[in-house]
Amino acid sequence: MKVAVYYNNQDVRVEDRPIPQPKSSEILVKTKSCGVCVADTMEWYLTPRAPLTLGHEPAGIIEEVGEEINNFKKGDRVFVHHHVPCLVCEHCRRGNFTMCANYRKTHVQPGGFSEYFIASGEHAAKDTLLLPENVSFEAGTLVEPLACVIHAIRKAGIKAGDSVALIGTGAMGLMFIQCLLYWGVRKLVVYEVLDWRIRKAKEFGAPYVLVPDKDPEKEAARLRDLFHSDGADKVFIAAKDISAMNLGMRLANKGGTVVFFATPKPEESIPLFPSYIFFNEITLTSTYSADHLDTRMALDLIASGDVSADKLISHRYPLENLSDAILQTVSRNESLKCVINF
Ligand SMILES: [Zn+2]
Ligand SMILES: [Zn+2]
Repeated sequence: MKVAVYYNNQDVRVEDRPIPQPKSSEILVKTKSCGVCVADTMEWYLTPRAPLTLGHEPAGIIEEVGEEINNFKKGDRVFVHHHVPCLVCEHCRRGNFTMCANYRKTHVQPGGFSEYFIASGEHAAKDTLLLPENVSFEAGTLVEPLACVIHAIRKAGIKAGDSVALIGTGAMGLMFIQCLLYWGVRKLVVYEVLDWRIRKAKEFGAPYVLVPDKDPEKEAARLRDLFHSDGADKVFIAAKDISAMNLGMRLANKGGTVVFFATPKPEESIPLFPSYIFFNEITLTSTYSADHLDTRMALDLIASGDVSADKLISHRYPLENLSDAILQTVSRNESLKCVINF
């Protein structure tokens, strides 16, 4: 089978390897499609661990099941979540599944950018989902990224009627727009600087799309006028520039919540004013990844059409061109979601 091995964004080599045999508790999946995530392009995060096989947004057909597997069979069309929680550790007991050590260490092997991969019995039991007939393999690759958006929306405690500011409208930002509208948010301001992304945000139904003022204080004043309130009840920062984080901190309503969703570099920092946080009772929070509850909700929203996969997938590549797909994702040049098709 062909397996893509990542060295850096420019250097991805396709190797030939034998197709793995599933053990009695495992599943062998023939990959049909796998999404390229921004996390697959972050060299500072990846190169220290390279060479490695990436791909955590896979969908495919079950090729073989071990004899202990009784909830799936050969031929099933599935999405497999790469991380699964143990469900019994201190973090799982409190519902913080993505903080579970088991969650962090579980992966499909060797990864989604491979013609076949092995999913463990844990994957099969906890977070492998049958794709309904109307959900294509390409659409199935969106389950994981959409689940991350849903994880953030659930953690923020979004309620119908909330006012929301969203910063950044890459593929994740556009999924935020679709989900927030679904969750009953009508007062939604989206901040974006790139022209083509501004167009996309409008296409996806964002009622207000603004280029943020360079001065966060001025922008906060404009938002207060727009919402006739002291700010946005919930703020989602889905852009990894540090200026977006600074802006987001200033947009929250009194009693509001700011969610840090994008991944800055480890050495980047922003100033924090505890007195402002204190007197305005601002909640600062963040979400990492998604759990097995989010993936089910994500698949439902894709199957119902409330989140449109067709509108989100902009580029398709064969496995040999994974480096091109990564560079396209980095370039922000009119690309939303890139997928590798097998
Ligand atoms: Zn991802
Ligand atoms: Zn756990």
